[in-house]
Amino acid sequence: MTAPRAVKGMNDVLPEDMGRWQRVEQIYARTMSLYGYREVRTPYVESTALFSRAIGEATDVVEKEMYSFLHHEEPLTLRPEGTAGVARAYIEHGVHAKEPVTRWWYGGAMFRAERPQRGRYRQFYQLGAELFGDPGPACDAEMIDMLVQFLRELRIPDLQVLVNTLGGPETRVRYRAALVEFLTPKTASLSAESQRRLTTNPLRILDSKSEQDREAVRGAPTLHDFLGEDDRVHFEAVKKQLDALGTPYSVEDRLVRGLDYYTRTLFEIVGAREKLGAGSTLVGGGRYDFMIAGLGGPQVPAIGYAAGLERLLIASELEIPGNVVDALVAPLAGAITEGLVLARDLRKSGIRCEVDTRGTSLKSQLRRANTLGARVVLILGEDELAQGVVQVKDLDARTQETMARDQAIRIVVDRLMAASRSVDSRPPRETT
Ligand code: AMP
Repeated sequence: MTAPRAVKGMNDVLPEDMGRWQRVEQIYARTMSLYGYREVRTPYVESTALFSRAIGEATDVVEKEMYSFLHHEEPLTLRPEGTAGVARAYIEHGVHAKEPVTRWWYGGAMFRAERPQRGRYRQFYQLGAELFGDPGPACDAEMIDMLVQFLRELRIPDLQVLVNTLGGPETRVRYRAALVEFLTPKTASLSAESQRRLTTNPLRILDSKSEQDREAVRGAPTLHDFLGEDDRVHFEAVKKQLDALGTPYSVEDRLVRGLDYYTRTLFEIVGAREKLGAGSTLVGGGRYDFMIAGLGGPQVPAIGYAAGLERLLIASELEIPGNVVDALVAPLAGAITEGLVLARDLRKSGIRCEVDTRGTSLKSQLRRANTLGARVVLILGEDELAQGVVQVKDLDARTQETMARDQAIRIVVDRLMAASRSVDSRPPRETT
């Protein structure tokens, strides 16, 4: 019988990689609390209709990427993104009536049946946030700047911030008509996918990666020519505030992104292509002022984004200490019970330690200490037990001393604390 394997595009994260994952999650949670965002957790499964209404029927995600199933006749879907569920929770709990502005963040797995490749998976993790109740533009600029601060703290080099505006719904309608008029005579030269999109979602043709589509859209009218005065004022203010914050960006007027719900401010943050390949977009986000009302809630403006955690990890140059424990307690056969007690007392002082309870030779216990990355080994043999002492072997300093038990704990704590203070205390590098 063949052994079971993980589902294609869905990956295990093994303990040796978890350290970096957890560090990124910690930095994110800290950034969020610095900006007044609180964490929200919504279910992994929602009704299928929520996603088709919130994201839009004619989007890639809803058309072909959702894991949907019937459970006792009820159409359900594994969440392909976070915004729809968070917006649903915001409406369902009447949050707008309790506070004028809401800042929420989330993290967790998302599911899309895409073709797996580097940086693109079928189960992947996103870190995101939504801000409800402020029509902007200051909060748009602050959100983009917050992301840049976060990505710099992750030591991600070569960041590029792309911003655009899609205007309001009327702008979209007028622009869509103009684009269809421009592209219709060129229908035959469009890719099959874009020919279909010409009637379903023509704006998506603008960010098609296909060469023939790129050629066809050359010279197309730009959305910026159709912006209403309010949209223009909003976008100018976002740019001015980004300038004031010293956040570098470039305006990318072909940026439309895949999800239907966006209005006005739209942004992407891109990392180095050499590292990330086709999946170089680290963060995508934008304003969605009409989604809450569209889902049957109040007319509340909103803006949000999501970052792909795996992509952040590919791009990040953060180094974290790889050791599993700080100390190994190595009791020889007759001293195992004393070893358990000594380790428990060390842990009370915050020292991460393992007891080697196998009762094997000192040589094999030292090998174990190396594997775990322990800096200190506390050796307990029959003689040490009889004399109430411990041998403290410092693998970094290459010393070995005999100490009274209590003195050993104090010294080990002091040494390890001093060492941990010097780990990764460098300031974040400027990357953009
Ligand atoms: P989106 O929700 O499509 O706007 O995507 C936001 C971010 O999530 C992207 O910029 C990626 O970093 C990440 N992302 C989206 N889809 C995937 C995927 N299939 N695998 C890994 N990361 C993804």
